Amino acid sequence: MQRSRPTFRRQRISLLFSPALNFCSVCGKATEIKVPEGDNRLRAVCSGCATIHYQNPKIVVGCLPVWQDRILLCKRAIEPRYGRWTLPAGFMENGESAVEGAMREAVEEANAKVEITQLYTTYSIPSISQVYIMFLANLLDPNVSAGPESLDVKLATEAEIPWDDLAFVMVKHTLRHYLNDRRTGIFTPRFGDIRPPER
Ligand SMILES: [Zn+2]
Repeated sequence: MQRSRPTFRRQRISLLFSPALNFCSVCGKATEIKVPEGDNRLRAVCSGCATIHYQNPKIVVGCLPVWQDRILLCKRAIEPRYGRWTLPAGFMENGESAVEGAMREAVEEANAKVEITQLYTTYSIPSISQVYIMFLANLLDPNVSAGPESLDVKLATEAEIPWDDLAFVMVKHTLRHYLNDRRTGIFTPRFGDIRPPER
């Protein structure tokens, strides 16, 4: 039983550590999961060169692009949530700002040229270590089309939003806030946490 414990321990914490951290990216030796001296969290620490491989949440940036009374939605051509509708959003890349990332995603997913107007919703999803940053945006040209990561795109009126077929809870929340705010004309930035069973 003694020998199985390290394996069990690694499985148990695999939710927190990517398999990519099983081996050191500096020297190639195996890592071990332990609390480094002076720290208070488990980290992947190289058994050879002692490099500590920190892993932190990923940031997803996106926008809610508006054209007159319509909102740009994209039907996902990739997992997770293949075939479901979403707002253009994706992982930030190194070397770009959050606004630049949101604009890039709109181009990649919908060939959509947008002007970002304000920060709108920020959601943390601790269970998958992700943070979503969503902006409001003006769509500068209604001629949009599906990019490689989309099966389809559409400019939806409020009545046309497929509420039961949305990809993510954060999309539903962001759309609801927008539609409510549009009635008053005051678009208030919001934040929140999304926890299971939501997603
Ligand atoms: Zn190493």
